[in-house]
Amino acid sequence: MADVTADLDPEEFRRLGHAVVDWIADHRAGLDALPVQPGVDPGWVRGQLPASLPEDPAPLDALLDTVDRVVVPASTLWQHPRFFGYFPANASLHSLLGDMLSGALGAQGMLWSTSPAATEVEQVLMDGFAAALGLDPAFTFAGGGGGCIQDSASSGALVALLAALHRADPQWREAGVTGDERVYVTAETHSSLAKAARVAGLGARALRTVDTTPGSLGMRPDALAAAIEADVAAGLRPVLVCPTVGTTGTGAVDPVRGVAEAAREHGVWVHVDAAWAGVAALCPEFRDLLDGVELADSLSTDAHKWLLTAFDASLLWVRNGAALPAALSIAPEYLRNAASESGQVVDYRDWQVPLGRRFRALKLWAVVHGTGLSGLRSHIREHVALAAKLADRVRADPAFELASEPSLALVCLRVVTGAGPEADDAATREVLARVNASGAAFLTHTVAGGRYVIRVAIGSVTTRAEHIDELWDRLRAEATSVVRS
Ligand SMILES: *Cc1c(COP(=O)(O)O)cnc(C)c1O
Repeated sequence: MADVTADLDPEEFRRLGHAVVDWIADHRAGLDALPVQPGVDPGWVRGQLPASLPEDPAPLDALLDTVDRVVVPASTLWQHPRFFGYFPANASLHSLLGDMLSGALGAQGMLWSTSPAATEVEQVLMDGFAAALGLDPAFTFAGGGGGCIQDSASSGALVALLAALHRADPQWREAGVTGDERVYVTAETHSSLAKAARVAGLGARALRTVDTTPGSLGMRPDALAAAIEADVAAGLRPVLVCPTVGTTGTGAVDPVRGVAEAAREHGVWVHVDAAWAGVAALCPEFRDLLDGVELADSLSTDAHKWLLTAFDASLLWVRNGAALPAALSIAPEYLRNAASESGQVVDYRDWQVPLGRRFRALKLWAVVHGTGLSGLRSHIREHVALAAKLADRVRADPAFELASEPSLALVCLRVVTGAGPEADDAATREVLARVNASGAAFLTHTVAGGRYVIRVAIGSVTTRAEHIDELWDRLRAEATSVVRS
């Protein structure tokens, strides 16, 4: 007969847990020798797994064996030191330790009263990171604002938009959208804003694409002001503008101060999307990136991209700590409690779309506890320095050119053939495909100014100078052979 409880005995967990930790340590120590990208065909993984679920228990060894045999070979290894695609998603070992503690408590932090620590550790961290990033104290709880950890920058943009809709129209909670709302972005803005507009029921017609300055690709404040004024004159309702600090394509930075000044006159909510680049402001020399954010209503930056914290953890601050609850709170009888009614606590369910929430703060806390702010700063500085060195090599090599000046740790480059832009684009595309097919590195691309561009996003926890050297050698070798053929 099976045990009455389906769970592990804590002593058995101790034994198996050590085996899993050993597996993780071995996996991370051996990453450099593995291909970054798998070479599997669609359906291969499904073909390796039994079609139905096991009726009887099986030992952990068998599971680890399947992970080794099927899961790892079919995984893009995002923690690989030669992963330069998209923006890397740091999952430091520090954060894994914190994540285990969070899972151990298994707390559901929807209300302060359902786990006071889950709420207050997060509040302390958000206020602490606001100070460390040099944000205006208005974004802290002490200053009347506050922050919370969302699952993603996409969710942060969505709730900011909902708060903006509520502020623009007190009838919104009751009556919904009118169809007159307008949201201002640029062609470089992340797609999550378009998705947020759709999810909020505004539809694509609500989006206004504001012109950018050629070259810098930053939003033009004068063009924003003109678009807002034209919309107001037409009886429409400007609701939100989203300047980006570090666009996903090329790392471009919108002039937040000018954008916010143009938006303010008409009471338009300013949501700053600094998903990737914002954390760099921990370093005083990069703090200029957030110039003008003190005029914004909300700001988000991901801890799960460049801040050593395992997915998911996206930091969102708002200047008015009442704005999200005003838009989002709904209090059914079964959630009523004395602490909430006292008005002395934060109930984070009112700051997000879902009711339930994980204790994400523990993994971020484990990171900053284990590395200190000094460790976070050197992590960022090292990658920026590696990017600068790579950019110097690109500049010095006639077979390549920079597609734009490097932005922090993002280098955008292309191959130069001497046979014109079309030939250059084709060669760049082919070099990217060959580097990725080799398994020696993983790169992704974008199209900027109509031209095909290789993006080298440096930011994996274990990426060092030698990995950039190898990447550069590989890029040069592939470019030589592509141009010759
Ligand atoms: C990555 C990125 C996002 C989306 O981030 P998620 O946290 O994955 O939702 C949004 N904006 C920018 C600028 C990004 O680079």
